[in-house]
Amino acid sequence: MSLLEISDLDVHYRRRVGRLHALRGVSLSLSPGETVGVIGETGSGKSTLARAVLGLVRPTSGRIVVDGSDVAAFNQRQWRELRRRGIVQYVFQDPLKSLDPDLTIAESLAEPLRIQGSADIHDTVRKILSRVRLDGSLLDRLPGELSGGQRQRVAVARALITSPRLVLLDEPVSALDSANRVQVLELLKELRDAGTALLFISHDLGSVAGVADRIAVLYQGEVVEDRPASSVINEPVHPYTRLLVSSAPTLRSAAAGRAARGELRTLLNLEGAPV
Ligand code: ADP
Ligand code: MG
Repeated sequence: MSLLEISDLDVHYRRRVGRLHALRGVSLSLSPGETVGVIGETGSGKSTLARAVLGLVRPTSGRIVVDGSDVAAFNQRQWRELRRRGIVQYVFQDPLKSLDPDLTIAESLAEPLRIQGSADIHDTVRKILSRVRLDGSLLDRLPGELSGGQRQRVAVARALITSPRLVLLDEPVSALDSANRVQVLELLKELRDAGTALLFISHDLGSVAGVADRIAVLYQGEVVEDRPASSVINEPVHPYTRLLVSSAPTLRSAAAGRAARGELRTLLNLEGAPV
């Protein structure tokens, strides 16, 4: 069974004048442990998709089934319960939006555990911090006292601390410099390899290419491709995808003729392509 099943999702935003059709008939599914990349240009509806799955935007029509429940019709109480269970977590582009500026890093990390009523909060917080390779001395700091890269790793740690089955990542590396980007992408690969399902949203094909099993391309609110990553890169079909692939020459030459994800990843790492 799918962990996430989006069918025929439409989202309209009400504007001062008329409506904006942000998503049109979007269908996308994700199996347990699978990593799906969603790429598209600015305004193509990527964040709307993530926000609909998280219950932050109400779909105009369509179904969103998370772990067997149709969340599109969820009320506040049902959302709270789903969040408490910690099955779905998220990381946004700007970690300051996923972290409370007035809570220390220790408090931010402990919060989801406290909501779940788990024991051993202190221990779990320490373990997760070392998993994202941050020093324990950061625990007493406020988010504003950390670098952007450190903050994003805290945001990833916070998303992971409840051992979610699905993590939604909306442009998680777009605000990072290249060294931090590489580190966070490595972290995402570890997560994927440990069996966490990821929905990895980015405008940057290069970031997604090394992590995703499958890539879906959103163009003006519609999914125009949804295939194995190597197939999208090697044989892009939609004109927009062709444009993306041709403007990332390293990616294409690295990917040429290589179907296996492992091979693709090794190449990207070796050739220093923009992963
Ligand atoms: P992306 O994340 O791919 O850049 P978004 O999902 O943020 O795209 O936006 C898709 C479209 O919906 C854009 O045209 C954007 O301007 C519009 N939009 C996003 N949020 C709102 C909102 N709250 N109200 C009205 N329009 C919105
Ligand atoms: Mg966005």
